[in-house]
This record gives sequence, structure tokens and C-alpha cells, in this order.
Amino acid sequence: MGTSSGDSQITPEALRQLPPVNAVLEHDELAAVRQLRGRELVVRAVRAAIGEARLSLQNGQYAAVDAPSLARRAREIVLGTRPLLRPVINATGILLHTGLGRAPLAEEAVEAVAAVARGYCNLEFELEGGERGRRTSGIARLLRELTGAEAATVVNNNAGATVLALRVLAAGREVIVSRGQLVEIGGSFRLPEILEVSGARLREVGTTNKTRLSDYERAIGPETAAILRVHHSNFRIVGFTEEAPLDGLAQLAHDRGLAMIDDIGSGALAPGQPPGVGDEPLVSEGITAGADLVLFSGDKLLGGPQCGILVGTAVVIGRIEADPLMRALRVGKMTLAALETTLGLIRDGANDAGGVPLWNMLSIPLPQLEARARRLVDVLRDELGLNASIVTSESFIGGGSVPVQPIPTVAVSVGPPFPTAPDSEGAWARALRIGDPPVVPRVQRGTVLFDLRTVAEREETSLLDAIRRTCHDRKPESSAKDTKTARAK
Ligand SMILES: *Cc1c(COP(=O)(O)O)cnc(C)c1O
Repeated sequence: MGTSSGDSQITPEALRQLPPVNAVLEHDELAAVRQLRGRELVVRAVRAAIGEARLSLQNGQYAAVDAPSLARRAREIVLGTRPLLRPVINATGILLHTGLGRAPLAEEAVEAVAAVARGYCNLEFELEGGERGRRTSGIARLLRELTGAEAATVVNNNAGATVLALRVLAAGREVIVSRGQLVEIGGSFRLPEILEVSGARLREVGTTNKTRLSDYERAIGPETAAILRVHHSNFRIVGFTEEAPLDGLAQLAHDRGLAMIDDIGSGALAPGQPPGVGDEPLVSEGITAGADLVLFSGDKLLGGPQCGILVGTAVVIGRIEADPLMRALRVGKMTLAALETTLGLIRDGANDAGGVPLWNMLSIPLPQLEARARRLVDVLRDELGLNASIVTSESFIGGGSVPVQPIPTVAVSVGPPFPTAPDSEGAWARALRIGDPPVVPRVQRGTVLFDLRTVAEREETSLLDAIRRTCHDRKPESSAKDTKTARAK
């Protein structure tokens, strides 16, 4: 490659780097499909892949021009498959990023999912008697053990659990909710709307910042069916505030023959779980305080699969399980396998390596993150000539959980490879997102930030490769200083 022209255009230099068809065709990545589908078809696919890359470059966008990437793309074209749902490297530092699928599963949970996915399983089958069984009976046993509740069941997600609970316990009647708890979480979970679809009527009491037990007491009438407490998962009210205590509410509900429902959102199974997260309501607290029903998500702080967990009294869970909506919201075998394994890891106190990934990510010590960041920075600087440095930053739990508890972290801040292009950091972030594998970083004040807390160590090589592929027309031998000089001309 010749000396850099000094201009920030991606196009001309990268176009020259596009490899000839033969160089891509002979790549190992294509060996299997060449045998399987014949050379001619693969040649066409390679031409198409190179054509796509050329078009992107001509449009001023990044495209991978290295033979391995083009070979992979050609294979996708031959097989007609680029999965729509693909693994992504999450470098945002948001641990429960809903857009990126919330909690990654433990390796043990992944194995359990694969084992039941591959063939048949005893999902609703009593092996001993050879009869039809209940799909949630196994998981209910484990949940009872972990929460101290009389009974438990599982549905598709916590939004579903809330609709189901309100429908079964209060359809056509009133549910009392504090005005300080009429939350919206994740855009589509809006409590007044959830109540509406359940068929229950919302009876608001108190004010945004203060709601007392007496407010609830005065609102109870012949139409009242339940009291609902909702954890304000994604915001905090500070200053002069007051909320009625749960045990007081439960006592009041039971004195008046009402149901007490506690939607704790994420929740924790025991104090200090996950490590370092304070301030979240405990499932067992709700049960001890006398709630008939406690609702929480499986893929928030529990670190398991997407699902909604309902624990409570045998009578209430029994009514819920008998409702037709339960059938509409039921979970599949893969969810149950992942949940069972995750709960097992938590019960057995697996809080170290090999445990629940979310918990591990939360507790990575800063020096360890710093060492990993140092390794990445060295390669980005020495090999790619990028302007990379280690910065301190903050990770967030996300997923509508624990909004006011940022977690100190160490990130790698990188100036974009083509710094004079318009919105170069945004353009680079886009290139990383559409790469293979896609990388989702954070864009911050002219630089692109990679928070390694949410990047697994096993992903580091792929992360580096993905970054490399977006730096195609930088001279590998040039140092950051040389490049800067060349580009400043
Ligand atoms: C997150 C949350 C929900 C919704 O749970 P999903 O599992 O995402 O459906 C409901 N209520 C509260 C309080 C929450 O924090």
C-alpha cells in the first residue's frame, strides 16, 4: 500500500484493496460450500460479495474488504442465510440492555437449553406414572425453596404476569395504586394501560411523592378487589417522600378481604444478590410481609431467560394457573430449562466464575478490567495506529433496573480511524454495528467507547478482528503519530 493521501475519504484507497475473486474463492471459509454446491455457484457469490463491498465504499460507507470477511459473506449468499437474529458484542457497558436481549445465560443454562431443544423432554409428562403432568410443577418446587412462598408459577414475562394477576384477581373491579407508582418501563409497559387490558379498573390514590396507608384505606369500597404495589424500577423520587409500608398494606388488604399484589420488577432472591446491588426489593420480603402475590422478571437481576415469575399463596397461584390466559402466556421448554439451571446456580451459591454471567460481570474487579483494556489499547495503537486510551467510566445495569447506581468501570476510548470525515465517530460506530460480528459501542464526545465489563473475555479476539476490519485502509505499519501527521497535511 502506498503512502496515505492524507484526505479522509474512505473510498479510493479501500477500493484498491478489494481482493481479486480468486483470492476470496480459495479461502478456507469457502472450502465446504465449494464441495457442496460447486465452484460455479460460489464464484457468482464471491463476485456478488465483492460487488456489495464496492457499492458500499462508493457510497462513502465502510465495508470489510479483507478476504476472510468477503468469503464469509459469499458463503452466506450461497447458503441464502444470514441469520436475522445474530450474536452481538455488547461494548455499551449496559448489562441488561433490553435491545440486546438482556441477561446472557450461564454456560450450564445454555447446555440445558440445547439438551431439551435437540429432542423430546418431560415437559408435561410424569415419567413415573406415564401420565400427563404440569409443565411448571418442577420449577415451582425450586421457586418455593428459594423464596419461601407456598406456590409459584412462570409465564412469558413480567408484563404478562401482571396482566394475568390483575385479570384473575380483579377483572371488572377496582385496583388501588399509589400515584407515585404509576410507572412506565421500557416504553411499552405503562401501568395504567396494563390495568386496562387486564379488565381491572385503576383507582389512583395519594400524590406523586407521598401516599399514606390512610389514602388506601379511604379508597376501599365495594368495588375494590386488590391493592397493587409497583416498584419504581427505573426512577427514584427523592426529597420529601412517603410510601405506605408493604406489611401495613397487606394487613389492610386482608382485613378488608382484598388481594395484595407486589410487582417488584426485578427483585433479588436474597440480600447481596446479585453482588454490589443494593436497594432492590427482596422476593422473600414481599412474601413475609403478607403479599398474596409477588411478581418479577427472570431476565433482569436474576440473570436468567426472559420470563415472568409469580410466587404467592397456594390459593391465588391455583386460581391463576386455572385461567385460560395462563395457557396463552405459557413458557416453552427452553425457557424452563434455562430458568431451572439459573436458579440452581443461585441456590448453590455459584457467584464466582462459571456462575451467572450477569453476576460475574457486576463483580469484575477494576484492576482486571484495566489489564484487559491495556491489552486492547496496545494492539489498537501499535498495530492499527489508532488513538486509543484507557478511561474510567460508568457501567449501568439497565433493563429498567437500579437507575441510580452507576458501576465504576474501565473503558477503552478510541478516536475514529478517519477522524476528519463528517460525524466520523458516528460513522465508525455504524460500521462496527453492521460488521461481522456486530459490535455495539458507546459514542461519546468525538470518540467511541468500548466498556469491557459487558464484553466477555472469550469475545475479545472477535472484537479486535471486528475493529480491524473497519480500519481497512489504514497502514498497519504506521504508528499513531505518523498517521496523525499524514492526515493533518
Ligand atoms: C421490568 C418491569 C416490568 C416488566 O417486566 P418484563 O419482564 O420486562 O415484562 C414490570 N414491572 C416492573 C416494576 C418492572 O420493573
